[in-house]
Amino acid sequence: MTAQQLRDIAQQIGADLVGIAPVERFALFAPEASPLAIQPQTRSVIVLGFSIPRGCLQGMESGTAGYTLGAGLPTSLAIETTYQVCRRLENEGWEATPVFRQSGEMRGQGVRVSPDRPEPNVILEFDFAAHAAGLGEIGRGKWLLTPEFGPRQMLTIILTDAELEPDAPFAGSICDDCGACAASCPARALDATDLHRAPLCEGEAVWYPLHIESCRVCRTGTTRLPYSGGSEPFRLGAACGRACVAHLEDNGLLTRKFVSPFRPGGEGE
Ligand code: SF4
Ligand code: SF4
Repeated sequence: MTAQQLRDIAQQIGADLVGIAPVERFALFAPEASPLAIQPQTRSVIVLGFSIPRGCLQGMESGTAGYTLGAGLPTSLAIETTYQVCRRLENEGWEATPVFRQSGEMRGQGVRVSPDRPEPNVILEFDFAAHAAGLGEIGRGKWLLTPEFGPRQMLTIILTDAELEPDAPFAGSICDDCGACAASCPARALDATDLHRAPLCEGEAVWYPLHIESCRVCRTGTTRLPYSGGSEPFRLGAACGRACVAHLEDNGLLTRKFVSPFRPGGEGE
């Protein structure tokens, strides 16, 4: 199977975004976060993205229906599509391991199977993987931004021993350091006066330091990803995530266009 054939299959059965990174791009990670600690034969890391409808955020925007985000998360589609892509790879003799997002807080909570192995669970850094696979960048709000959807997507990963032609790491720029995510936070949990830096496979990710304890009790629209066992909240529906959607759209920074503006009164509303 070629990379293009895999991309076509994944998109035909529901993925909006498909990126491929060679496992060597994950060399900077300790075993606790390494694909090779899950599947030692991994040659390629496939990242699939599933868009979250923009309309799911309107219940939080209007303050009248917080469940609209949960109702619109593409959870079933992501699981089914990931499973089917794994199946197609294994039909051709390649091993394919599906991986769903977990909070990094879930690392190191199990018992080592042997002294030379990391403690379960080994948890991958999904946003790093998406950058390495060419899908997008980590914005100042500490979330993945893609050129089409901004912060509106769920990700899954497939590890495989198939050596697929890789995509280049993402080299574009989406986040313009506007500070809208930080300014919208009633708890001031994002500090736009400072920057946290973390290495990527090429270059570095830069985001505002985040006080996650405030996000755990945030009442502006956080939720949990259904298959994320950790306690780190999913912030797309919160004030910070919605401010980012409004800013990126109002300033023409996304390729996906809508007839109606996200906020009829503009991003500051
Ligand atoms: S989730 Fe809530 S507390 Fe956390 S940064 Fe966003 S708005 Fe602030
Ligand atoms: S709101 Fe502005 S600073 Fe924050 S992530 Fe989005 S584009 Fe970047």
